[in-house]
This record gives sequence, structure tokens and C-alpha cells, in this order.
Amino acid sequence: MFGRAPKKSNNTRYYEILGVSNNASQDDLKKAYKKAAIKNHPDKGGDPEKFKELAQAYEVLSDPEKREIYDQYGEDALKEGMGGGAGAHDPFDIFSSFFGGSPFGGGSSRGRRQRRGEDVVHPLKVSLEDLYLGTSKKLSLSRNVICSKCNGKGSKSGASMTCPGCQGSGMKVSTRQLGPSMIQQMQHPCNECKGTGETINDKDRCPQCKGEKVVQEKKVLEVIVEKGMQNGQKITFPGEADEAPETVTGDIVFVLQQKDHPKFKRKGEDLFLEHTLSLTEALCGFQFVITHLDGRQLLIKSNPGEVVKPDSCKAINDEGMPLYQRPFMKGKLYIQFTVEFPDSLGPDQVKALEAILPPKPTSQLSDMELDECEETTLYDVNIEEEMRRKQQQAAQEAYEEDEDMHGGAQRVQCAQQ
Ligand SMILES: [Zn+2]
Ligand SMILES: [Zn+2]
Repeated sequence: MFGRAPKKSNNTRYYEILGVSNNASQDDLKKAYKKAAIKNHPDKGGDPEKFKELAQAYEVLSDPEKREIYDQYGEDALKEGMGGGAGAHDPFDIFSSFFGGSPFGGGSSRGRRQRRGEDVVHPLKVSLEDLYLGTSKKLSLSRNVICSKCNGKGSKSGASMTCPGCQGSGMKVSTRQLGPSMIQQMQHPCNECKGTGETINDKDRCPQCKGEKVVQEKKVLEVIVEKGMQNGQKITFPGEADEAPETVTGDIVFVLQQKDHPKFKRKGEDLFLEHTLSLTEALCGFQFVITHLDGRQLLIKSNPGEVVKPDSCKAINDEGMPLYQRPFMKGKLYIQFTVEFPDSLGPDQVKALEAILPPKPTSQLSDMELDECEETTLYDVNIEEEMRRKQQQAAQEAYEEDEDMHGGAQRVQCAQQ
């Protein structure tokens, strides 16, 4: 740090770092440091170097003796005078000693140990309409916050005592005699202080949090679901999880879960719709209306003379999902057509159809030749069912073969007979 400082005799840099004049009062310094340190705290995405500089500047200027040396002789003088010790302090120490238990003014809590609290993850069910139109949802959650009355100290006086049970280590060692010359040692969190290493005098306990340092708070979060967000997308509220002293507060994270839609299916930016046409519609043209996710009525119709084949697919541009953060652009709406054929036709219908449809391929065989052929019978099958059964059969046979390999000689013979 000091090695990087400009070589010229510089005794204004610390003031510049804090953004105060060189006749700033202790109060001004405190305010300036507090504001800048919160803004530049690495946990809030600040630059660690800048954060270190701030701590250093504040450490020097807040100490009247050091400030005087600095004002007169600059940084180098301090460096020499303090044997290089000026840069040795942990900026997080300075930060937390300054802010105590609630450095971010109740917003969240930081400490030099930089323990991070857990993130709280909630699923958030949304409809396809919500993702198409965008919406906001207000959710009420209860969370622990640092007690405002004691600033997370747990005591009225702000003091805490070193836990007599563990001498502040937070851990206790218990021994157990196992035999005449055998002792078992076990380490476990101190029960008197719950592993924190400190206790609070009963009379000194904060009346608001009863010495727990945190209190429950109901909080309403407004979750903004933006147009085009995806299933599984996360919406994060940084530092809104449970607060605890000496802990960097975790985030509340909502994970979007898109509910199934009765009509539309979504793949990325595209929407899919299934539509069944009668045979007449497929051959002679169709027209139908669908209600879109925003309530608009879309008229879908075929071109004159157009024939729709079974399982064919058509698309409409710009009627898919809006793109995330570019909601004026939209994907496609695909329509998959199923054509429903009549189950059977009467003789008159057949005649009428034959009269208008392209002629059948004529049989080249004479009656004599047809007599030579064998008659067959067609029956309906469910082909998927059929294939599944065949697969099961094959698996069963493979299994039996495997069994035979392991010494079923007799069964092999039986199978071959
Ligand atoms: Zn203890
Ligand atoms: Zn309290």
C-alpha cells in the first residue's frame, strides 16, 4: 500500500481519499468514512483496494497523534515512525470496530470474520401469462434482523462478557475417564454461550431481543417478474436473508417455476399450440380463433385451396414469447395440426367422394389372377403398445439367456426343444 503511494511529500492524499477538507472534524471524518466504506465494501461489490485505502486513511486521521505527524510530514513519516505498522491493520477490523454489530445501518451485517449467512431460496410459481405480460408479486416473509435497540450487541450497555464457560473460545473440552489410565477428550460448542464465546449479564440483557441480538421482522418483498423470463430463472434480493451479528447477510433468491398451461407449451422464446381439424376443414379450408396469453383474439385461417396434411406444422411470426429484456421482440407461435378422419363412410358417401377425388390406381390383375392370391385380414393395432411389448419380450429373453450362462444347462435344452 505504502509502497504504491506517490513519492512526493504528500500529506493531503488521505483527506482526498475520504473526500474531506484537511480541517475536517472527527465527526466529518466519521461520516465520510462510514459513507465511503459502505459504498466500497467488497461484499457490496466494492474495490478491495479502495476499501483498504479508506480504512488506512481513516485509521490515521482519526488518531490525533498520527494525524499531526501525517499533516506535518506525510505518509512516509508515519511509515517510519510506526515501523511499517500502519499498513498492517486489517481493514475489516477497522470497519467492524467502527460499525459494531450493525455496520450497514440495519440493512445487513458485516464483520471482520466475513462469515456469510445462508441464502434463502424460495420457489415462485408463475403462470405462462405472468411470463408473457410481466407481473409483480408481493410476498410477505419473516426474517431475523439485527436488534435495533442494542445494535446486535444483545445488552443494554453494549458490553458483553467473555463467556466464563469457555473463556471466549466458544468451544468446551470435556474429559471422560474411560479406564484407570485412559481419558477421552471431547470438544463441543460451549452450551453457555452457544459457541459465540461471549455472554451477557442477565441484568444487562437487551429488553427487545432478550439478549438474542436479533429480532423477527415481517418484510414484504415485491418480486418483479419481467416479460420473457424463463422457467428456473432466479430473482435475487441481495442481503435480505436472516441477519446475524458478525455475518454477511445472505440473499433471498426466488426461482421461477412456470406452471403448465392448458393450451400453450413454451420452448424458449417460442410457443406451441395443438389444433385438431376435421377432415373437411383440412381439405376445404378452416378458420378459427385463439385467445392469446394477453387476451387478444387471433384469427387463424387457411389460404384458399390449401390442404392441411395430418401432423403438419405452421408458424405465425411474432406471436411467441417476448424476449427477456427485449420485450418488443417475440418468438414464433407454432401450430401443430391433427386431422380427424371419419371412422367409416356409407356407400353413398364413398361414391360421392370417388366422383370428386383423384381416381384410385386401377388394379392390373385379372379376376383369375386375384383368385390365385391368398386372402388376408387386417386388424387395428396400437403400434406403440405393440413395440413396447416386443421390447419387454426381448429384455426378458436376454435376462433368461443371462441366467442360463450361469449354469442352467437344462433350461437351455428345454428352450431349444
Ligand atoms: Zn462459552
Ligand atoms: Zn437487542
